[in-house]
Amino acid sequence: MYDIYKIREDFPILGREVYGKPLVYLDNGATTQKPRVVVDAMVDEYYSVNANVHRGVHFLSQQATELHESSRETVRRFINARSANEVIFTRGTTESINLLASSFGEEFMCEGDEVIISTMEHHSNIVPWQLLAARKGIAIKIIPMNDKGELLLDEYEELFSERTKLVSVTHVSNVLGTVNPVKQIISVAHAHGVPVLVDGAQGVPHVAVDVQDLGADFYAFSGHKVYGPTGVGVLYGKEEWLDRLPPYQGGGEMIQTVTFEKTTFNELPFKFEAGTPDYIATTALARALDYVTALGMDNIAVHEHDLTQYAMNRLREIPGMRLIGEAAEKSGVVSFLVGDIHHFDMGTLLDRLGIAVRTGHHCAQPLMQRLGIEGTVRASFCLYNTREEVDALVAGVERVSRMF
Ligand code: PLP
Repeated sequence: MYDIYKIREDFPILGREVYGKPLVYLDNGATTQKPRVVVDAMVDEYYSVNANVHRGVHFLSQQATELHESSRETVRRFINARSANEVIFTRGTTESINLLASSFGEEFMCEGDEVIISTMEHHSNIVPWQLLAARKGIAIKIIPMNDKGELLLDEYEELFSERTKLVSVTHVSNVLGTVNPVKQIISVAHAHGVPVLVDGAQGVPHVAVDVQDLGADFYAFSGHKVYGPTGVGVLYGKEEWLDRLPPYQGGGEMIQTVTFEKTTFNELPFKFEAGTPDYIATTALARALDYVTALGMDNIAVHEHDLTQYAMNRLREIPGMRLIGEAAEKSGVVSFLVGDIHHFDMGTLLDRLGIAVRTGHHCAQPLMQRLGIEGTVRASFCLYNTREEVDALVAGVERVSRMF
């Protein structure tokens, strides 16, 4: 039984008011609120365990190390990686993608080689490849999409050439909510002998992810979008790939021996984790993953799907409504524009009603260019949102529309 009102009690912030109105938080695509267990885990660890990991012989350091490494195991279980060595802790999706672009690009790509990305990528899955293009002269090819916001898989297959070295594609679009058929995308790439990185920033919070079932070679996500703390994320990579990649940053933790002449590197996953990790955040991330696991990812997906469909059906009734992103497979995100009301005006006025939505290009300017718009209003739902909140959004949008 998915008891939404009981679940909401786990998130203290949901009880607050803004401008004297109950908060309706619909900006979960940007970041999610935190359940008490996550914040408590951070406070508890700071107050009772805090010590640097992997370095000390003393009790606290060993306890902190155990917590940190058991968090890695929790992540492994959550995404069904084969080994905890395949779970690298980073600062978030952005750093995970930059790590891979830098390391993979350094080792496996040279001038004229190609990476395939899609029209609906977040800037964090575009700009690292452009930086690599500027450094090494690689080319970037783009998978097109239809007007509903679905990638065109026939065209995708035609993009492959002998120079294609990597495909990097988002699991779920942060603007359109499209759930891409990543399993199929990966199997096409593998048929061409090309590995795939999946940007799972919007995937992990909304759909059950099994990296082995997907066949993903690399999978990136952020803790803060899945009810965990800021400042921590994950790069999953198949061991056989990670073993062949050079380190991303140099420093403590990632070495085995150092002389002034030569350094040998640590084994996986530490080779990619230079410096003190945010071990408080990794513990809290594990508690967040435990929390959603206890609710059941499939139950969460059903709840969010229901809310998304309900929101789309209700919003569609508003005169002048243009829904942006109507893919058959969609998760948790509703983007829209109404008449010629500027998205920023809509967002600002909704805010005065206590409704938090995001407006603008959502870090996906090339997608905006494809859609021929500057930005959208985006409501993004998650496990604690209710139909009443959707009703409040619809009433708010109607009210703002009448004002214009
Ligand atoms: N990729 C997608 C699809 C996103 O939605 C986001 C954040 O909104 C990112 C990547 C970047 O995530 P972060 O800022 O946590 O690194």
